[in-house]
Amino acid sequence: MSTSKFFTLKEVSLNNNCPECYSKDGLKLTFKQKFIENIFYKSITSETINEMHCETCDTDIFPVRWTDEIEQVVNYKKRALHPKPKSIKLKPLAWVFIIVDAFLLITVILFVTGIVSF
Ligand SMILES: [Zn+2]
Repeated sequence: MSTSKFFTLKEVSLNNNCPECYSKDGLKLTFKQKFIENIFYKSITSETINEMHCETCDTDIFPVRWTDEIEQVVNYKKRALHPKPKSIKLKPLAWVFIIVDAFLLITVILFVTGIVSF
C-alpha cells in the first residue's frame, strides 16, 4: 500500500566531457532523495540516489560509463550535499484514526474503572 518515490534534491551541471558524445556542456547530475508515501503518512528517508544525464546527446550516463574524473566530481558534489532530515508527516486520515483510537481507549478506561456504566 505504500510506495517509494523520489524527489529532486539538487541539480548540478558538470563541466566534464560526456563519455558518449564528448560534449563539455551537456552533463547534468541530479540528486534525488527517497520518500515513502501511503494513505496515513509521508515519510522522508535518508536514502539518496544520483542520476546523470547528458542533454546534448540525450543519454542517461550510468556509473559504469563514468570516467575517474566524473567519479571524483560526483563524490565531491555528494559530500557537499545536504539531504533533508528524516521526517514523518501524518496525513489527516492518520489523525482521525489516532483520535478515534484515543476516544475508544478513554471510553474503555471509564467503563472498566466504573466511572461510566450502562
Ligand atoms: Zn552526451
